[in-house]
Amino acid sequence: MVGRELYPLLQCPTCSSRNLAVLEGAVLCGDCLNEYPIHQGYIDLMPRQTEFEYISKYVSEEEHMGEELDYRAMAPPLLAAGVRHRQVRRMLDLQPSDIVFDNACGNGRFGLWNADAARLIVGSDPAVLFADQALAEMTLAQADSRRLPFIDGAFDKALSVDVLEHFPRDVIHDYLTETARVLRPGGRIAIFSNTKEMSPIQPLINVSKRIGRFFVKRGVYDFDREARRKSDHIKALETWDDVEAALVEAGLKPVRVVFWNSLFTSFVEHVLMKLGEAIIVGLRSRQSAGKSAPAAIADQELGAGASAGTQREIVARRAMRRHLTKTSPIYWALYAITLLMELDLWLFGWMRTGPYFVLAEKAEGRYIPAPLPSADNP
Ligand SMILES: [Zn+2]
Repeated sequence: MVGRELYPLLQCPTCSSRNLAVLEGAVLCGDCLNEYPIHQGYIDLMPRQTEFEYISKYVSEEEHMGEELDYRAMAPPLLAAGVRHRQVRRMLDLQPSDIVFDNACGNGRFGLWNADAARLIVGSDPAVLFADQALAEMTLAQADSRRLPFIDGAFDKALSVDVLEHFPRDVIHDYLTETARVLRPGGRIAIFSNTKEMSPIQPLINVSKRIGRFFVKRGVYDFDREARRKSDHIKALETWDDVEAALVEAGLKPVRVVFWNSLFTSFVEHVLMKLGEAIIVGLRSRQSAGKSAPAAIADQELGAGASAGTQREIVARRAMRRHLTKTSPIYWALYAITLLMELDLWLFGWMRTGPYFVLAEKAEGRYIPAPLPSADNP
């Protein structure tokens, strides 16, 4: 959706001019004369005549990633996504007057889940893999985080979920600096990402992984899709200290941090849910007599090409999704499992590990971005 309330927040992503005219089906920059077309459900605000060295695989392999991400349909915030959503929401403490920015919003689900709590949520992403519901209901822009199409101080709050771990260091710097620029002074951002740090209770967490591997060996399930999803995690910010430094460098002061030591989470993800998936797919194959393999179901629904594990996971997710309304016991079972996973935050949130939620605040006063540290400027 491209609503009227978006326009006052915009500046030209190419030349930073605010001299914009809204035409039929496009926004025109009066200074650099670039035109930004309004598509079905979003506006293309990518900077023109600009080349960036780094391009995310979500952009370069958009079609392929789209197939694997299963992004079009929305599900309620449950399981790992539910834990992220609930923690980000607690940290942001959204108010009905808030204008909120989801920077690199993916399919837009976090924005949609929070739509009831704020005045306006704007999502942007360079890849246009938006959910159908987001295209219909959420204010969306195709944009590059290094050159955001928004004026200084446009937003009260921002969120960034599963983003930073994908970027090299210089892109992280630009991403955070630009996000800080479009936040108002005193505005806050909630970030969820991941460093390379290990949990002190890793040996305990590994028990679940070991049980999971046992089932993988027995052919009950595999982790292809998860591996694929994590395949471009660079984790350029290797430790929590790196995260703090990067935030401060961008003019953002860490206010609160909660770490996610995944003891319960790991048991749910590696054992409970995977067994559930295997059972659901097994039942479904038996129902569609003759076509016994999960691949047969997946082929009809997905097209061939995805691996068996990916197919199995997507088939299970689709079968489940039909039952994910609040009148279904399956919804409440998954909700209870979500709370079980969240116990990790309540019990071990103080203990340093890789995955972290951080709330950071933009310093009051004039905004001065810090220079990147370099060889001659240590
Ligand atoms: Zn311009």
